[in-house]
Amino acid sequence: MAAPTYSIITFGCQMNRADSERMAGILESLGYVPAEDELQADLVLFNTCTIRNNAEQKVYSYLGIQAQRKRKNPAIKLIVAGCVAQQEGERLLRRVPELDLVMGPQYVNRLGDLLAQVEAGNQVVATEPIEIPEDITKPRRDSRVTAWINVIYGCNERCTYCIVPLVRGREQSRQPQAIRAEIEEVAGAGYREVTLLGQNIDAYGRDLDPKTNLASLLRFVHSVEGIERIRFATSHPRYFTEELIATCAELPKVCEHFHIPFQAGSDEVLKRMRRGYTQERYRQLIQLIRQYMPEATISADAIVGFPGETEAQFQETLQLVQDIGFDFLNTAAYSPRPGTPAAEWPDQVPEEEKSDRLQRLNRLVAEVAADRSARLLGQVQEVLVEGPNPKNPRQAMGRTRGNRIVFFDGDPEPLQGSLVPVRITATRAFSLSGEIVRAGEGKPQPAELEVCA
Ligand code: SAM
Ligand code: SF4
Repeated sequence: MAAPTYSIITFGCQMNRADSERMAGILESLGYVPAEDELQADLVLFNTCTIRNNAEQKVYSYLGIQAQRKRKNPAIKLIVAGCVAQQEGERLLRRVPELDLVMGPQYVNRLGDLLAQVEAGNQVVATEPIEIPEDITKPRRDSRVTAWINVIYGCNERCTYCIVPLVRGREQSRQPQAIRAEIEEVAGAGYREVTLLGQNIDAYGRDLDPKTNLASLLRFVHSVEGIERIRFATSHPRYFTEELIATCAELPKVCEHFHIPFQAGSDEVLKRMRRGYTQERYRQLIQLIRQYMPEATISADAIVGFPGETEAQFQETLQLVQDIGFDFLNTAAYSPRPGTPAAEWPDQVPEEEKSDRLQRLNRLVAEVAADRSARLLGQVQEVLVEGPNPKNPRQAMGRTRGNRIVFFDGDPEPLQGSLVPVRITATRAFSLSGEIVRAGEGKPQPAELEVCA
């Protein structure tokens, strides 16, 4: 008999993608194989995102098509996992009665047990808060070069716009030994880079006994052989410390890229967002990073049109973007989320105003990022080759230590997973082109490669 097939459709952030890889690993350990077409799969799993309303609505339109399939073939299994599942729970079953399983993000590692309940004929909702168990199943990772490693689940902050703490629950750090063991395993499988993940990764270890922190974790995993690069995300300006910066500067494998969302450039807005820092503190933090690592790449997230944000306050966001000179910025128009304080406030900014501000911010981001990129023209950068350029299979694609994407001519297959020196020949706001430097032609620029204190 042919093996049953599965398809996972993932929405949202890196953490959701990491969760999907874990669930794919569990399904494969149960004998499932990937389906070529999600409309033919025996099991379809939507791993959902509810950070903004449009992400949530997308799920419903996809679900409708699969529910129709299931009405014709009841043997198909339909699952909704992730943040919409947690937010909606039983309501989702009422809205889409064809579903077999609705499971929140804390249940990712328990997918096998939940499926057994479905196979016993139950319709299951798993959204009660639980202690997240260590998962001994191997994830099915999308990349063969770079691996995501969860280090802390959940978030204890209460930013007034954000639904994450409501759907992902309280912080739960993994034990350093379990994290190191997973990194050793991926190194053994040939991975060269790991990205440690957490919603507020700077909170890592404060819930453990004995307490520890991210700087100590970086030191603890740094010696894993075979791993050449270590990244982490997402940082919170309130908890980002000089100890952490100094540690990153000292440890050669830790890449000079920091993703530290500032969200808004106005102190008044930051206060209403309950972020716990001022724009001045944010500027000082970036200055400190640049003192230790002058060439560090800085990226962030920002929201425009938060309730009550005036034009003058929005201008402060523009000013901050200009002054800092971000390499990348994820921007979003504020989206009211159910159950969050700001969604109830009367002074919502009209949609047209939000989208106008978003466009103005995006234009500035593209200009600033292009300027930052341009500085790399002519430099030789160390690039970790991830695979082919998706738009041109004769070119390879990789990333600099600063996390810039680089395309260059070369056969991607033998180069995949290697660190190669590439001379940058063209720069764009969010990507670079270059050519491989052959032996003796040049060496990577200290500016980008040196980790200085
Ligand atoms: N924990 C991270 C932090 O504190 O910055 C980010 C987590 S969140 C998954 C990713 C980004 O989504 C946030 O940084 C924020 O910019 C954006 N976001 C969260 N809630 C939002 C909302 N209600 N409307 C628009 N953007 C939102
Ligand atoms: Fe959301 Fe704030 Fe937690 Fe980030 S720190 S996940 S924005 S509540």
